[in-house]
Amino acid sequence: MQFAYTPRLAELKERAAGLTAKIMPYEEECEAQNGLTPEALAAIRDEVLASGLQAINMPVEWGGAGLTVLEQVVVQEELGKLTGALWDTVWRPANCLRAATPEQRSRYLLPGIQGRCRDAVAITEADAGSDPSGIRTTAVPDGDGYVINGEKWFVTVGDAADFLIVLANVQPSGAPTLFLVDKDTPGVSVTRTPRYTHTFVYEHPEFRFEDVRVGSGAVLGEVGQGYELTRDWFTEERLMIGARTIGAAERALRLATDWAGDRVQGGEPLINRQLIQGMLADSVVDITTNRAFTHQVAWEFTEGGDRKLLHARAATVKLAASEASNRVVDRCQQIFGGRGYMRDQPVERLWRELRVDRIWEGTSEIQRLVIANEITKRGLDGLLSFATVD
Ligand SMILES: Cc1cc2nc3c(=O)[nH]c(=O)nc-3n(C[C@H](O)[C@H](O)[C@H](O)COP(=O)(O)OP(=O)(O)OC[C@H]3O[C@@H](n4cnc5c(N)ncnc54)[C@H](O)[C@@H]3O)c2cc1C
Repeated sequence: MQFAYTPRLAELKERAAGLTAKIMPYEEECEAQNGLTPEALAAIRDEVLASGLQAINMPVEWGGAGLTVLEQVVVQEELGKLTGALWDTVWRPANCLRAATPEQRSRYLLPGIQGRCRDAVAITEADAGSDPSGIRTTAVPDGDGYVINGEKWFVTVGDAADFLIVLANVQPSGAPTLFLVDKDTPGVSVTRTPRYTHTFVYEHPEFRFEDVRVGSGAVLGEVGQGYELTRDWFTEERLMIGARTIGAAERALRLATDWAGDRVQGGEPLINRQLIQGMLADSVVDITTNRAFTHQVAWEFTEGGDRKLLHARAATVKLAASEASNRVVDRCQQIFGGRGYMRDQPVERLWRELRVDRIWEGTSEIQRLVIANEITKRGLDGLLSFATVD
């Protein structure tokens, strides 16, 4: 066993840290204005391209950085330190776009990889969240294409996106299918842009699709392949959430530790108080154990293996890391006292922003169900053992 960065991973980590440092100065503007100006976003885009960390999940031959899952985790951990979800300005087109036809690839994916166009994923509906089989959006075959009707909620980056990846049931059989829908297609409209707990550099609007006509070339993958394509994407995305939340927790802990060293109450620096030391120590435990496990499972993805088991392993990572990181930022906020409740304090922003990591891409309860499903169907062995290599 080797638990160390290779020179390649160390270089990537340093490069990601450098990009994170370049984006960090935009945090306060993002918080104050609930987003960034087009000029600021353009400046960040230039930094992303200069770093070579654009579309890290896409192959080099298409213009992406072509990183393995483990390498992506190393990068995402650094970017996760950013508040305002500024990590999302470092674009990664949805993995399911790898299923694009050559025509779809040149129209959507290649510009997306270059940072010239963005996708947003529209699966969730008012009555279909944890259970996407409850979606009511339909695609009715019509001539050479389809007519889509329905509503979608929580569409992250829906304001900045140029096209949407929409899950709809193709009639009459109800086959769940992904469609690539240009946002300016007649019949596509934004019904509401709600405010959320966190500040996020983009919005999560709700969309209505009213008699939206698309050609047969809008189908991503095959008709009926909708769940399969989204499941694969969710699986890797859950590791990235694990990585980002750990990075966020590390930033919060470093800030809280410095503060505890400086802040004197009752004649002693806080860091000399055992109740404070306990919070710092528990946070070190939460970060280090989850960092190691996230890297372990990311390595297993990179080595390849049984997708069903990896799905459950990724659920374990997401559940453990997001819950642990929420505990860390909560403790760090406590150490800052009243100052930890002020929005100009990065720890306060991280505390608000990490909450959603227990909800999106499958809630903590859904991750438990995925793990339990693996236990009941195939037993504990795959979940509990280390992989072996020759
Ligand atoms: C900020 C934000 C951004 C998002 N971005 C996107 C996006 O870009 N695209 C997209 O499609 N979706 C997006 N989502 C939606 C997100 O994936 C869903 O909110 C999430 O999957 C939960 O669905 P729900 O909100 O309908 O809650 P529900 O499914 O109604 O769940 C409510 C509660 O019941 C629990 N629960 C549900 N089923 C079970 C069960 N079987 N057993 C036990 N407990 C259960 C849940 O864990 C939760 O605690 C986003 C959500 C948020 C908040």
